[in-house]
Amino acid sequence: MRTQRSSSPEVAASQGSAPVRQLPGLIGLQQAAGNRAVSGLLVRTRQADAGRPGDVPVQRVLSWCGKPVAAYEDVPEEDRNQITTALERDCGKAFGEFARMVIGAMIDDPGRYNVPDKGAAGIIVKNIKEMLHAYSMQDLSKISSNNNLLRIVERLLENEKHRGDLESKNLKTSRAGLVSARNIRKFNELLNKNPKFVDYLKKAGIKISFSSSDARNLGSLYVHDSKTVHLSPEADEASPGVFLRLLLHEMGHASFERMLMNTDLRILNEDGRVFHDAWTVLRRNDGRYMFGLDLGYVGTPDARKVYQAQRFEEFCAESFMYRVTESDLLKRHVNELNEPSKDVPQDIRDAWSKAIVILDKYAPLILG
Ligand SMILES: [Zn+2]
Repeated sequence: MRTQRSSSPEVAASQGSAPVRQLPGLIGLQQAAGNRAVSGLLVRTRQADAGRPGDVPVQRVLSWCGKPVAAYEDVPEEDRNQITTALERDCGKAFGEFARMVIGAMIDDPGRYNVPDKGAAGIIVKNIKEMLHAYSMQDLSKISSNNNLLRIVERLLENEKHRGDLESKNLKTSRAGLVSARNIRKFNELLNKNPKFVDYLKKAGIKISFSSSDARNLGSLYVHDSKTVHLSPEADEASPGVFLRLLLHEMGHASFERMLMNTDLRILNEDGRVFHDAWTVLRRNDGRYMFGLDLGYVGTPDARKVYQAQRFEEFCAESFMYRVTESDLLKRHVNELNEPSKDVPQDIRDAWSKAIVILDKYAPLILG
């Protein structure tokens, strides 16, 4: 779906703004202008990734014109058409990508802003030039009259800040400019909370390839030889919670799984053997007593249990991910299995106790 082109500053100039700074969002705008029709830009395909029975809610309720929406494609087609047709006619194709960013800022709202819930499409069509000008100048004073526009542009600039924040960490990443701001923000939150994790990733030479065609249709992928975590273009369509889980799962392969091996990566060390022994018990019955959470289009909680039951490496990666992103839920799962009233085999309880000891030992070595 997404392709990368070299960007050209001419597009920004053609919008009639005064000198324009090179913001990542504008690079996307230029790429868009180079290769896609506006109508294609507003429609991003993804499956809704929340709301399955038993799921832990990973997604906020978003709204568009007062109706709850889960994704961009849930914005009514009529509204999308109204925006794209009008923009294409009045402003040229390049505005389509910026309109998508504006829609994103409006529906992906953490509740801090009171985004208008009526006539949102009309607001975009009418004011996009003014918003783009203020955004590209990074100057909110360019918004003269309307508090709603101010909040939208403020949010877009905040998104840019998150992109800059990730850049400033100097991790080895590629195509981060193609990742949505809400997902970058989620990743930054984790890194800011665990600054030593940043050091670990750098020292270990782990690279992140966002929007990678290598992982297309897989969700995500880790390649040991190149020490590269690949996230598929579709991963960015997931909610921030699922996006982070995919990322951390692959980082589990890159970090925790490797640390359970001896240097030649074929033989488990002592802790690795303990973790493996626990897995051989927990994997019985398709991993019935394992722990699984929603990974969006990659798998339901039950599917994640089966996946871990099938391969030890996946149990390593997934367990690490849960330990980092949902530590409380993981512990609650184990505590519930230990409740005396529960009819859970003792060897399952013992296996979980051992697995948790290993996870608790290694997580701080990686996260600090
Ligand atoms: Zn995996």
